[in-house]
Amino acid sequence: VAEDAVVIGGGLAGCEAALQLARAGHRVVLYEMRPVVSSPAHHTDLLGELVCSNSLKSSDPVTAAGQLKRELRALGSQLLQIARETAVPAGGALAVDRNQFAEAVTRTVEKHSLVHVIRQEITTIPESRAVIVATGPLSSEGIQSAITELIGPHRLAFFDAAAPIIDADTIDQRRAFPASRYGKGGGSDYLNCPLSQPQYEAFVQELVRAERMRPHSFESADLFQACQPVEEIARRGLDALRYGSLKPVGLTDPSTGERPWAVVQLRPENAAKTAYNLVGFQTNLTFQEQRRVFRMVPGLENAEFLRHGVMHRNTFIDAPRLLDKTLALRADPRISFAGQITGTEGYTEAIATGLLAGANAAARLSGCPSVVLPETTALGALVSYATDPETEHYQPMHVNWGLVPPLDQRIRGRRERYAAYAARATDDLERYLRSRRPGTVSDAC
Ligand SMILES: Cc1cc2nc3c(=O)[nH]c(=O)nc-3n(C[C@H](O)[C@H](O)[C@H](O)COP(=O)(O)OP(=O)(O)OC[C@H]3O[C@@H](n4cnc5c(N)ncnc54)[C@H](O)[C@@H]3O)c2cc1C
Repeated sequence: VAEDAVVIGGGLAGCEAALQLARAGHRVVLYEMRPVVSSPAHHTDLLGELVCSNSLKSSDPVTAAGQLKRELRALGSQLLQIARETAVPAGGALAVDRNQFAEAVTRTVEKHSLVHVIRQEITTIPESRAVIVATGPLSSEGIQSAITELIGPHRLAFFDAAAPIIDADTIDQRRAFPASRYGKGGGSDYLNCPLSQPQYEAFVQELVRAERMRPHSFESADLFQACQPVEEIARRGLDALRYGSLKPVGLTDPSTGERPWAVVQLRPENAAKTAYNLVGFQTNLTFQEQRRVFRMVPGLENAEFLRHGVMHRNTFIDAPRLLDKTLALRADPRISFAGQITGTEGYTEAIATGLLAGANAAARLSGCPSVVLPETTALGALVSYATDPETEHYQPMHVNWGLVPPLDQRIRGRRERYAAYAARATDDLERYLRSRRPGTVSDAC
């Protein structure tokens, strides 16, 4: 009997998507290339293998990562349930015994009567009624060509180079002044942190000696040639950054009436300006060093990092220009994407987008309303960011409170503000789920 849907990739996203489709009563074929073809980071033939850390991050309900878990539970995520069943003690985080977790995922998927697992590398997009591409950050070369053919040239990235993103409320706006270079485009698009000569030189000195992340064996230096980390540029000479992304030209510090020695520019991440990214600060520094060194910039002394900078081997599509809010291709909704390949980052995020892509493919097959979560929820905000054509400079993003719309009332304390975001998200999700038929989002309508 022909299948209703094909899922390509038996990682976190693909397995969750397949289980959601099956829960809704659809027959699924799941293709996983391992062990026939391996990836440079996987070590087993198990489905749902965690390639690095065994942590699915914080369970603290006030954090965006904790809220995402709460939402996944409400939405009926099967992999999150398995993670809870295979959890190991990890303080406030949800960490799992990686073997028990992947074995349980493999068992659950393989024994499901509606899911048929085939170990084969897929190199063309199948003709099925619904296809979900979930081939992850290390998608095989064969499927990369098929994806490029599907979405067009220059829409598939092979590495990421993300600059840190800062919570706007933690930027000292007495020091950082709003302005655009030469007053262009309205004059106040950026926040600008001015550095004196001694401040700049001390900053560069720490930047070049800060500890960097060690690249994986399959991440060669020339992979990142098109986009150099800020610490590499600083290493070329004391003035290299001052003539590059920290150039002060066209900017006057209103507190002195003069052009600063150097300027760190922050660009708003969203229309509400609740989060800013550090322009030109793609970096390979460890997260701890990013916090230490970047907080030397005047105005960023108390900066809270909503996302740290990263540079990795990665495979992801230009989702803001390609996908709709159900994670389907706008040009061909029969085909959806899920997991890291959508440009969302992290294990739990992969499970979450797998759930959403699976539930929406199921809804489409059954003629039910699609699943589009409120933008105030952690997952709804992430998907909204990833699929909004207005999102520029798209780089992999994990859930964080900088993505949600501002609260009606300003709350100064960070933890209190995050608690209010979490309470709003939970209420809005409950209301949304009540507005649908009872049960999980994948239950037949
Ligand atoms: C080296 C490395 C370390 C990472 N460390 C972390 C971490 O510590 N914490 C974290 O949260 N995130 C980490 N990530 C990101 C992580 O990959 C994702 O968070 C998550 O695994 C993505 O899930 P996924 O389902 O999209 O992809 P994956 O889990 O990678 O699953 C994709 C699956 O598709 C299969 N596949 C690929 N091509 C084909 C094909 N053509 N045909 C059939 N099957 C195919 C692969 O074998 C794989 O099983 C890391 C990524 C990498 C590359």
